[in-house]
Amino acid sequence: ERYLASIGDQRYLNIYVEVFADEALDRAREQDGRRSAGEKLGQLAGVIISIKDVICYAGHVVSAGSAMLEDFVSPYTATALQRLLDEDAIVIGRTNCDEFAMGSGNENSHYGPTRNAADPARVPGGSSGGAAVSVQANTCLLAVGSSTGGSVRQPASFCGIYGFKPTYGRISRHGLIAYGSSFDQIGLLARDPADIALGLEIIAGADAYDATAPNREVPHYATATSDGPKRIAYFPEVLENERVDAPIRQTIATTIESLRQQGHTVEPAAFDYFDYVVPTYYVLTTAEASSNLSRYDGLRYGYRSPDAETLEETYKRSRSEGFGTEVQRRILLGTFVLSSGYYDAFYGKAQRARRVIQEQLRGILADYDFIMMPVSPSQPWPVGDQTDDPVANYLADIYTVLANLAGLPAIAIPAGIAEGGHLPVGYQLMADLWQEEELLAFTRRIG
Ligand code: GLN
Repeated sequence: ERYLASIGDQRYLNIYVEVFADEALDRAREQDGRRSAGEKLGQLAGVIISIKDVICYAGHVVSAGSAMLEDFVSPYTATALQRLLDEDAIVIGRTNCDEFAMGSGNENSHYGPTRNAADPARVPGGSSGGAAVSVQANTCLLAVGSSTGGSVRQPASFCGIYGFKPTYGRISRHGLIAYGSSFDQIGLLARDPADIALGLEIIAGADAYDATAPNREVPHYATATSDGPKRIAYFPEVLENERVDAPIRQTIATTIESLRQQGHTVEPAAFDYFDYVVPTYYVLTTAEASSNLSRYDGLRYGYRSPDAETLEETYKRSRSEGFGTEVQRRILLGTFVLSSGYYDAFYGKAQRARRVIQEQLRGILADYDFIMMPVSPSQPWPVGDQTDDPVANYLADIYTVLANLAGLPAIAIPAGIAEGGHLPVGYQLMADLWQEEELLAFTRRIG
Protein backbone atom coordinates (compact mmCIF):
# COMPACT_ATOMS: atom_id res chain seq x y z
CA GLU A 1 0.00 0.00 0.00
CA ARG A 2 2.88 2.34 0.72
CA TYR A 3 4.44 1.67 -2.68
CA LEU A 4 1.10 2.20 -4.41
CA ALA A 5 0.65 5.49 -2.55
CA SER A 6 4.13 6.50 -3.63
CA ILE A 7 3.21 5.79 -7.27
CA GLY A 8 0.01 7.83 -6.85
CA ASP A 9 1.90 10.80 -5.42
CA GLN A 10 4.45 10.83 -8.26
CA ARG A 11 2.30 10.41 -11.36
CA TYR A 12 4.04 13.45 -12.90
CA LEU A 13 7.20 11.35 -13.28
CA ASN A 14 5.36 9.03 -15.73
CA ILE A 15 7.17 5.95 -14.40
CA TYR A 16 4.57 3.30 -15.16
CA VAL A 17 2.52 2.65 -18.26
CA GLU A 18 0.32 0.35 -16.19
CA VAL A 19 0.04 -0.29 -12.45
CA PHE A 20 -1.21 -3.71 -11.34
CA ALA A 21 -2.68 -2.32 -8.10
CA ASP A 22 -5.47 -4.81 -7.35
CA GLU A 23 -3.46 -7.79 -8.44
CA ALA A 24 -0.43 -6.77 -6.36
CA LEU A 25 -2.59 -6.25 -3.27
CA ASP A 26 -4.30 -9.61 -3.81
CA ARG A 27 -0.95 -11.35 -4.08
CA ALA A 28 0.30 -9.63 -0.93
CA ARG A 29 -2.84 -10.66 0.99
CA GLU A 30 -2.61 -14.18 -0.31
CA GLN A 31 1.00 -14.34 0.95
CA ASP A 32 -0.11 -13.03 4.34
CA GLY A 33 -2.67 -15.83 4.46
CA ARG A 34 -0.08 -18.45 3.66
CA ARG A 35 2.29 -17.00 6.24
CA SER A 36 -0.42 -17.10 8.94
CA ALA A 37 -1.15 -20.70 7.98
CA GLY A 38 2.49 -21.49 8.77
CA GLU A 39 3.52 -22.10 5.15
CA LYS A 40 7.08 -21.44 4.06
CA LEU A 41 7.15 -18.54 1.58
CA GLY A 42 9.56 -17.89 -1.31
CA GLN A 43 12.78 -15.89 -0.97
CA LEU A 44 11.09 -12.82 -2.44
CA ALA A 45 7.85 -12.92 -0.43
CA GLY A 46 6.64 -9.36 -0.01
CA VAL A 47 9.30 -7.98 -2.35
CA ILE A 48 7.82 -5.46 -4.77
CA ILE A 49 9.33 -5.41 -8.24
CA SER A 50 8.65 -3.50 -11.46
CA ILE A 51 9.04 -4.90 -14.97
CA LYS A 52 10.10 -2.93 -18.02
CA ASP A 53 7.44 -2.90 -20.73
CA VAL A 54 9.43 -5.37 -22.85
CA ILE A 55 9.10 -8.32 -20.43
CA CYS A 56 6.24 -10.72 -21.20
CA TYR A 57 3.84 -11.48 -18.36
CA ALA A 58 1.01 -13.89 -19.22
CA GLY A 59 -2.39 -12.21 -19.33
CA HIS A 60 -0.89 -8.71 -19.23
CA VAL A 61 -0.29 -6.19 -21.98
CA VAL A 62 3.34 -5.84 -23.08
CA SER A 63 3.74 -2.96 -25.53
CA ALA A 64 7.49 -2.24 -25.78
CA GLY A 65 6.55 1.42 -25.40
CA SER A 66 5.01 1.27 -28.87
CA ALA A 67 1.65 2.00 -30.48
CA MET A 68 2.35 -1.17 -32.47
CA LEU A 69 1.72 -3.36 -29.41
CA GLU A 70 -0.49 -1.05 -27.36
CA ASP A 71 -3.20 -3.70 -26.90
CA PHE A 72 -1.09 -6.83 -27.18
CA VAL A 73 -1.70 -9.29 -24.32
CA SER A 74 1.14 -11.71 -23.75
CA PRO A 75 0.14 -15.39 -23.83
CA TYR A 76 3.16 -16.46 -21.75
CA THR A 77 5.59 -15.26 -19.07
CA ALA A 78 9.30 -14.56 -19.56
CA THR A 79 11.50 -17.22 -17.93
CA ALA A 80 13.31 -14.66 -15.75
CA LEU A 81 10.03 -13.20 -14.51
CA GLN A 82 8.56 -16.66 -13.89
CA ARG A 83 11.53 -17.47 -11.65
CA LEU A 84 10.95 -14.29 -9.63
CA LEU A 85 7.21 -15.06 -9.33
CA ASP A 86 8.02 -18.60 -8.20
CA GLU A 87 9.90 -17.02 -5.29
CA ASP A 88 6.81 -14.93 -4.45
CA ALA A 89 7.92 -11.57 -5.87
CA ILE A 90 5.00 -9.16 -6.35
CA VAL A 91 4.90 -7.22 -9.63
CA ILE A 92 3.54 -3.72 -9.10
CA GLY A 93 3.45 -2.62 -12.73
CA ARG A 94 5.18 -2.27 -16.07
CA THR A 95 7.56 0.61 -16.53
CA ASN A 96 7.85 3.12 -19.34
CA CYS A 97 10.75 2.78 -21.81
CA ASP A 98 11.96 3.91 -25.20
CA GLU A 99 10.03 2.26 -28.03
CA PHE A 100 11.43 -1.24 -28.56
CA ALA A 101 14.24 -0.21 -26.16
CA MET A 102 15.74 2.11 -28.79
CA GLY A 103 17.00 5.23 -27.12
CA SER A 104 19.00 6.73 -24.27
CA GLY A 105 16.61 9.24 -22.73
CA ASN A 106 13.22 7.53 -22.50
CA GLU A 107 11.98 10.21 -24.89
CA ASN A 108 11.06 7.79 -27.68
CA SER A 109 8.15 6.21 -25.81
CA HIS A 110 4.63 6.17 -27.23
CA TYR A 111 3.53 7.07 -23.67
CA GLY A 112 5.65 10.22 -23.40
CA PRO A 113 8.90 10.76 -21.50
CA THR A 114 9.61 9.54 -17.98
CA ARG A 115 11.16 12.20 -15.77
CA ASN A 116 14.18 12.04 -13.50
CA ALA A 117 13.13 12.27 -9.84
CA ALA A 118 16.33 14.20 -9.04
CA ASP A 119 15.17 16.94 -11.46
CA PRO A 120 11.85 16.35 -13.25
CA ALA A 121 12.84 18.76 -16.05
CA ARG A 122 15.52 16.25 -17.07
CA VAL A 123 15.57 12.78 -18.60
CA PRO A 124 16.13 9.67 -16.47
CA GLY A 125 18.24 8.06 -19.21
CA GLY A 126 17.06 5.13 -21.28
CA SER A 127 15.89 2.91 -22.54
CA SER A 128 14.98 1.49 -19.09
CA GLY A 129 14.16 5.01 -17.82
CA GLY A 130 10.93 4.01 -16.08
CA ALA A 131 12.72 1.08 -14.44
CA ALA A 132 15.42 3.37 -13.02
CA VAL A 133 12.96 5.94 -11.68
CA SER A 134 10.73 3.19 -10.25
CA VAL A 135 13.60 2.43 -7.85
CA GLN A 136 14.86 6.01 -7.49
CA ALA A 137 11.38 7.25 -6.50
CA ASN A 138 10.79 4.40 -4.03
CA THR A 139 7.95 2.69 -5.86
CA CYS A 140 9.55 -0.79 -5.75
CA LEU A 141 12.64 -2.56 -4.44
CA LEU A 142 13.99 -4.16 -7.59
CA ALA A 143 13.43 -3.28 -11.25
CA VAL A 144 13.76 -5.70 -14.14
CA GLY A 145 15.10 -3.94 -17.24
CA SER A 146 16.89 -4.90 -20.44
CA SER A 147 20.17 -3.93 -22.03
CA THR A 148 21.14 -4.03 -25.68
CA GLY A 149 23.77 -1.31 -25.41
CA GLY A 150 23.51 0.30 -22.00
CA SER A 151 19.83 0.58 -21.22
CA VAL A 152 20.25 -0.58 -17.63
CA ARG A 153 23.57 1.02 -16.60
CA GLN A 154 22.99 4.44 -18.17
CA PRO A 155 19.56 5.16 -16.62
CA ALA A 156 20.72 3.69 -13.29
CA SER A 157 23.64 6.12 -13.34
CA PHE A 158 21.40 9.07 -14.33
CA CYS A 159 19.16 8.23 -11.35
CA GLY A 160 21.83 7.51 -8.71
CA ILE A 161 21.23 3.76 -8.28
CA TYR A 162 22.96 0.49 -9.25
CA GLY A 163 22.32 -1.05 -12.68
CA PHE A 164 23.71 -4.40 -13.73
CA LYS A 165 24.00 -6.21 -17.07
CA PRO A 166 25.21 -9.85 -16.96
CA THR A 167 27.33 -11.84 -19.40
CA TYR A 168 25.46 -12.51 -22.65
CA GLY A 169 23.64 -15.80 -22.03
CA ARG A 170 23.63 -15.67 -18.23
CA ILE A 171 19.90 -14.92 -18.19
CA SER A 172 17.38 -16.43 -20.57
CA ARG A 173 15.96 -14.01 -23.14
CA HIS A 174 12.76 -16.05 -23.48
CA GLY A 175 9.93 -13.57 -23.13
CA LEU A 176 12.08 -10.48 -23.63
CA ILE A 177 10.87 -8.60 -26.71
CA ALA A 178 13.74 -8.75 -29.19
CA TYR A 179 15.73 -5.71 -30.34
CA GLY A 180 19.25 -6.96 -31.24
CA SER A 181 19.26 -10.62 -30.30
CA SER A 182 23.04 -11.10 -30.14
CA PHE A 183 23.24 -8.11 -27.73
CA ASP A 184 20.03 -8.25 -25.66
CA GLN A 185 20.19 -9.24 -22.01
CA ILE A 186 17.82 -8.78 -19.10
CA GLY A 187 19.38 -6.64 -16.36
CA LEU A 188 18.52 -5.52 -12.82
CA LEU A 189 18.35 -2.13 -11.09
CA ALA A 190 18.31 -1.53 -7.35
CA ARG A 191 19.43 0.76 -4.57
CA ASP A 192 21.59 -1.98 -3.03
CA PRO A 193 23.86 -4.35 -4.99
CA ALA A 194 22.89 -7.15 -2.57
CA ASP A 195 19.38 -7.05 -4.05
CA ILE A 196 20.83 -7.37 -7.55
CA ALA A 197 22.95 -10.35 -6.44
CA LEU A 198 19.94 -12.17 -5.00
CA GLY A 199 17.79 -11.36 -8.02
CA LEU A 200 20.48 -12.63 -10.39
CA GLU A 201 20.90 -15.84 -8.41
CA ILE A 202 17.18 -16.51 -8.83
CA ILE A 203 16.84 -15.71 -12.53
CA ALA A 204 20.18 -16.86 -13.99
CA GLY A 205 20.86 -20.18 -15.64
CA ALA A 206 19.95 -22.50 -18.46
CA ASP A 207 16.51 -22.47 -20.04
CA ALA A 208 15.10 -24.91 -22.56
CA TYR A 209 13.50 -21.94 -24.35
CA ASP A 210 16.77 -20.08 -25.01
CA ALA A 211 19.67 -21.91 -26.61
CA THR A 212 22.00 -18.97 -25.92
CA ALA A 213 21.64 -19.46 -22.14
CA PRO A 214 24.15 -22.30 -21.58
CA ASN A 215 24.06 -24.93 -18.90
CA ARG A 216 26.69 -23.40 -16.62
CA GLU A 217 26.58 -23.57 -12.88
CA VAL A 218 24.99 -20.51 -11.27
CA PRO A 219 27.13 -19.30 -8.33
CA HIS A 220 25.60 -18.17 -5.03
CA TYR A 221 25.87 -14.48 -5.84
CA ALA A 222 23.90 -13.45 -2.75
CA THR A 223 26.46 -14.84 -0.30
CA ALA A 224 29.66 -14.35 -2.35
CA THR A 225 32.38 -12.20 -0.78
CA SER A 226 35.43 -10.47 -2.21
CA ASP A 227 38.81 -10.10 -0.56
CA GLY A 228 42.43 -9.21 -1.26
CA PRO A 229 43.75 -6.41 -3.45
CA LYS A 230 42.35 -6.24 -6.99
CA ARG A 231 43.88 -5.14 -10.26
CA ILE A 232 41.83 -2.52 -12.07
CA ALA A 233 42.48 -0.97 -15.48
CA TYR A 234 41.24 2.41 -16.71
CA PHE A 235 41.47 4.30 -20.00
CA PRO A 236 43.53 7.48 -19.40
CA GLU A 237 42.13 9.35 -22.45
CA VAL A 238 38.80 9.55 -20.62
CA LEU A 239 40.35 11.94 -18.09
CA GLU A 240 41.40 14.40 -20.82
CA ASN A 241 38.46 13.98 -23.17
CA GLU A 242 36.54 17.26 -23.35
CA ARG A 243 33.46 15.52 -24.65
CA VAL A 244 33.16 13.85 -21.25
CA ASP A 245 31.39 16.22 -18.81
CA ALA A 246 33.75 17.60 -16.17
CA PRO A 247 31.89 16.13 -13.14
CA ILE A 248 32.14 12.68 -14.73
CA ARG A 249 35.89 13.00 -15.31
CA GLN A 250 36.17 14.23 -11.74
CA THR A 251 34.28 11.14 -10.51
CA ILE A 252 36.64 8.84 -12.39
CA ALA A 253 39.70 10.61 -10.97
CA THR A 254 38.33 10.47 -7.41
CA THR A 255 37.42 6.81 -7.77
CA ILE A 256 40.92 5.92 -8.99
CA GLU A 257 42.33 7.67 -5.93
CA SER A 258 39.99 6.01 -3.47
CA LEU A 259 40.49 2.52 -4.93
CA ARG A 260 44.25 3.01 -4.64
CA GLN A 261 43.87 4.11 -1.03
CA GLN A 262 41.96 0.91 -0.35
CA GLY A 263 45.02 -1.01 -1.53
CA HIS A 264 43.99 -1.93 -5.07
CA THR A 265 46.21 -1.53 -8.10
CA VAL A 266 44.70 0.91 -10.60
CA GLU A 267 46.64 1.25 -13.86
CA PRO A 268 46.14 2.83 -17.28
CA ALA A 269 45.45 0.47 -20.18
CA ALA A 270 45.27 1.07 -23.91
CA PHE A 271 42.14 0.55 -25.98
CA ASP A 272 42.68 1.43 -29.62
CA TYR A 273 39.19 1.28 -31.06
CA PHE A 274 37.07 3.99 -29.43
CA ASP A 275 36.36 5.52 -32.85
CA TYR A 276 34.84 2.25 -34.08
CA VAL A 277 32.69 1.37 -31.07
CA VAL A 278 29.55 3.37 -31.82
CA PRO A 279 29.50 2.70 -35.60
CA THR A 280 30.01 -1.02 -35.03
CA TYR A 281 27.21 -1.13 -32.49
CA TYR A 282 24.74 0.80 -34.64
CA VAL A 283 25.44 -1.17 -37.83
CA LEU A 284 24.95 -4.51 -36.07
CA THR A 285 22.00 -3.63 -33.83
CA THR A 286 20.02 -1.87 -36.56
CA ALA A 287 20.62 -4.88 -38.82
CA GLU A 288 19.34 -7.27 -36.17
CA ALA A 289 16.45 -4.93 -35.31
CA SER A 290 15.33 -4.66 -38.93
CA SER A 291 15.10 -8.45 -39.03
CA ASN A 292 13.48 -8.87 -35.58
CA LEU A 293 10.90 -6.18 -36.23
CA SER A 294 9.80 -7.61 -39.58
CA ARG A 295 7.33 -9.76 -37.62
CA TYR A 296 5.15 -6.68 -37.00
CA ASP A 297 3.38 -6.83 -40.33
CA GLY A 298 -0.14 -5.78 -39.32
CA LEU A 299 -1.41 -9.32 -39.84
CA ARG A 300 -0.27 -11.72 -37.16
CA TYR A 301 -0.45 -9.43 -34.15
CA GLY A 302 -0.10 -5.84 -33.14
CA TYR A 303 -1.53 -2.76 -34.79
CA ARG A 304 -3.31 -3.05 -38.15
CA SER A 305 -4.15 0.10 -40.08
CA PRO A 306 -7.92 0.38 -40.53
CA ASP A 307 -7.48 2.24 -43.86
CA ALA A 308 -5.51 -0.35 -45.82
CA GLU A 309 -7.20 -2.15 -48.69
CA THR A 310 -4.51 -4.32 -50.25
CA LEU A 311 -1.89 -6.59 -48.68
CA GLU A 312 0.98 -4.26 -49.51
CA GLU A 313 -0.95 -1.30 -48.16
CA THR A 314 -1.58 -3.24 -44.94
CA TYR A 315 2.14 -3.76 -44.43
CA LYS A 316 3.05 -0.20 -45.31
CA ARG A 317 0.37 1.63 -43.41
CA SER A 318 0.44 -0.57 -40.33
CA ARG A 319 4.20 -0.19 -39.98
CA SER A 320 4.21 3.53 -40.83
CA GLU A 321 1.44 4.30 -38.35
CA GLY A 322 2.42 1.76 -35.67
CA PHE A 323 6.16 2.51 -35.36
CA GLY A 324 7.59 5.81 -34.14
CA THR A 325 10.26 7.86 -35.90
CA GLU A 326 13.33 6.38 -34.20
CA VAL A 327 12.23 2.79 -34.77
CA GLN A 328 11.56 3.51 -38.45
CA ARG A 329 14.94 5.20 -38.79
CA ARG A 330 16.67 2.11 -37.41
CA ILE A 331 14.69 -0.32 -39.55
CA LEU A 332 15.71 1.68 -42.64
CA LEU A 333 19.35 1.81 -41.59
CA GLY A 334 19.40 -1.89 -40.71
CA THR A 335 17.74 -2.92 -43.95
CA PHE A 336 20.27 -0.83 -45.85
CA VAL A 337 23.34 -2.36 -44.21
CA LEU A 338 21.97 -5.84 -44.88
CA SER A 339 21.08 -5.21 -48.51
CA SER A 340 22.97 -7.11 -51.19
CA GLY A 341 25.93 -5.12 -52.46
CA TYR A 342 26.38 -3.36 -49.10
CA TYR A 343 26.38 -6.40 -46.83
CA ASP A 344 30.14 -6.95 -46.89
CA ALA A 345 31.00 -3.28 -46.75
CA PHE A 346 28.92 -2.64 -43.61
CA TYR A 347 27.53 -5.68 -41.85
CA GLY A 348 30.45 -8.02 -42.54
CA LYS A 349 32.98 -5.35 -41.62
CA ALA A 350 31.12 -4.49 -38.40
CA GLN A 351 31.09 -8.15 -37.40
CA ARG A 352 34.85 -8.28 -37.81
CA ALA A 353 35.23 -5.04 -35.84
CA ARG A 354 33.10 -6.52 -33.06
CA ARG A 355 35.49 -9.45 -32.81
CA VAL A 356 38.56 -7.20 -32.65
CA ILE A 357 36.95 -5.02 -29.95
CA GLN A 358 36.07 -8.10 -27.90
CA GLU A 359 39.56 -9.53 -28.23
CA GLN A 360 41.25 -6.36 -27.04
CA LEU A 361 38.91 -5.94 -24.06
CA ARG A 362 39.36 -9.57 -23.05
CA GLY A 363 43.11 -9.16 -23.46
CA ILE A 364 43.01 -6.36 -20.88
CA LEU A 365 40.82 -8.50 -18.62
CA ALA A 366 43.37 -11.30 -18.78
CA ASP A 367 45.72 -8.95 -16.86
CA TYR A 368 43.17 -7.13 -14.70
CA ASP A 369 40.11 -8.11 -12.62
CA PHE A 370 38.04 -5.15 -13.81
CA ILE A 371 38.00 -2.24 -16.22
CA MET A 372 36.74 1.00 -14.71
CA MET A 373 35.26 3.77 -16.87
CA PRO A 374 32.44 6.28 -17.14
CA VAL A 375 28.91 5.07 -17.81
CA SER A 376 27.95 7.96 -20.07
CA PRO A 377 29.97 10.99 -21.19
CA SER A 378 27.00 13.22 -20.39
CA GLN A 379 24.77 14.00 -17.45
CA PRO A 380 20.96 13.91 -17.66
CA TRP A 381 19.88 16.50 -20.25
CA PRO A 382 16.68 18.58 -20.24
CA VAL A 383 13.68 16.68 -21.64
CA GLY A 384 13.31 17.55 -25.32
CA ASP A 385 16.85 18.88 -25.82
CA GLN A 386 18.31 16.06 -27.92
CA THR A 387 15.29 14.55 -29.62
CA ASP A 388 16.16 16.17 -32.97
CA ASP A 389 19.71 14.95 -32.98
CA PRO A 390 19.90 11.14 -33.10
CA VAL A 391 23.63 11.11 -33.80
CA ALA A 392 24.34 13.05 -30.57
CA ASN A 393 22.35 10.41 -28.72
CA TYR A 394 24.18 7.55 -30.44
CA LEU A 395 27.62 8.98 -29.63
CA ALA A 396 26.76 9.18 -25.94
CA ASP A 397 26.49 5.37 -25.88
CA ILE A 398 30.24 4.94 -26.35
CA TYR A 399 31.11 3.58 -22.89
CA THR A 400 28.09 1.37 -22.36
CA VAL A 401 27.92 -0.43 -25.71
CA LEU A 402 31.42 -1.91 -25.16
CA ALA A 403 30.11 -4.49 -22.69
CA ASN A 404 27.29 -5.53 -25.04
CA LEU A 405 29.55 -5.70 -28.09
CA ALA A 406 31.87 -8.02 -26.16
CA GLY A 407 29.14 -9.85 -24.19
CA LEU A 408 30.80 -8.88 -20.90
CA PRO A 409 29.13 -8.30 -17.51
CA ALA A 410 29.18 -4.72 -16.20
CA ILE A 411 27.66 -2.65 -13.43
CA ALA A 412 26.94 1.04 -12.95
CA ILE A 413 27.84 2.22 -9.46
CA PRO A 414 26.43 5.45 -8.02
CA ALA A 415 28.98 8.01 -6.79
CA GLY A 416 26.72 10.60 -5.17
CA ILE A 417 25.74 14.02 -6.47
CA ALA A 418 28.02 15.89 -8.88
CA GLU A 419 30.10 18.55 -7.18
CA GLY A 420 28.39 21.92 -7.23
CA GLY A 421 25.29 20.46 -8.89
CA HIS A 422 22.19 18.44 -8.09
CA LEU A 423 22.46 15.52 -10.51
CA PRO A 424 23.64 12.00 -9.68
CA VAL A 425 26.92 10.72 -11.17
CA GLY A 426 28.31 7.23 -11.36
CA TYR A 427 30.97 5.06 -12.89
CA GLN A 428 31.16 1.61 -14.37
CA LEU A 429 33.03 -1.61 -13.66
CA MET A 430 33.30 -4.33 -16.31
CA ALA A 431 34.58 -7.89 -15.80
CA ASP A 432 35.50 -10.83 -18.01
CA LEU A 433 32.88 -13.27 -19.32
CA TRP A 434 30.95 -15.12 -16.55
CA GLN A 435 32.75 -13.21 -13.74
CA GLU A 436 29.56 -11.74 -12.24
CA GLU A 437 30.28 -13.32 -8.86
CA GLU A 438 33.48 -11.35 -8.30
CA LEU A 439 32.04 -8.22 -9.94
CA LEU A 440 28.99 -8.11 -7.66
CA ALA A 441 30.92 -9.11 -4.53
CA PHE A 442 33.51 -6.40 -5.18
CA THR A 443 30.77 -3.85 -5.80
CA ARG A 444 29.23 -4.70 -2.44
CA ARG A 445 32.61 -4.50 -0.77
CA ILE A 446 33.42 -0.97 -2.00
CA GLY A 447 29.79 0.28 -1.76
N1 GLN B 1 20.94 3.66 -26.29
C1 GLN B 1 21.22 2.42 -26.94
C2 GLN B 1 20.35 2.27 -28.16
O1 GLN B 1 19.56 3.13 -28.37
C3 GLN B 1 21.04 1.26 -26.00
C4 GLN B 1 19.65 0.79 -25.90
C5 GLN B 1 19.48 -0.46 -25.12
O2 GLN B 1 20.39 -0.92 -24.42
N2 GLN B 1 18.32 -1.06 -25.25
O3 GLN B 1 20.44 1.33 -28.89
